[in-house]
Amino acid sequence: MEKKVVVLPCSGIGKAYGEIGRQAAYQLAEDLRPEEVTTICLARLMIDDPDARGLVRDNFVITVDGCAHDCARKTVESTGKRVDRALRVIDTYKEHRDLKPQGVLELGEPGLKLAHILAERLEEEVDCMMRKEQGYA
Ligand code: SF4
Repeated sequence: MEKKVVVLPCSGIGKAYGEIGRQAAYQLAEDLRPEEVTTICLARLMIDDPDARGLVRDNFVITVDGCAHDCARKTVESTGKRVDRALRVIDTYKEHRDLKPQGVLELGEPGLKLAHILAERLEEEVDCMMRKEQGYA
């Protein structure tokens, strides 16, 4: 069975960059790469849900964190799985400083644009992993 890519954004309650990470993950899993990408609630790993643990164990994993606390990456790694790629929203923002999100509830046009750029960046990572899976990299 071909591996999937599990994209795990952090919970990021009250943080605009956390919200952007989640929006990017949804865009990737629902619009850009629905066949190859899936996502789950990070909290399921925290409660040792066996299905969630199996999903991250058997597939590629990309984490997307809203700040340097890296909660998503650390949660995955606490299960014994090494993440294949760990992204931080702030790094995408640093490349696009004109796209400052307006707030948590309303990211505004700049925040939504930033989420889309991050989703495209994630898509490149998925391409890279799929090539590896198919033996082309
Ligand atoms: S990485 Fe930062 S924004 Fe995300 S859940 Fe942790 S503390 Fe919140």
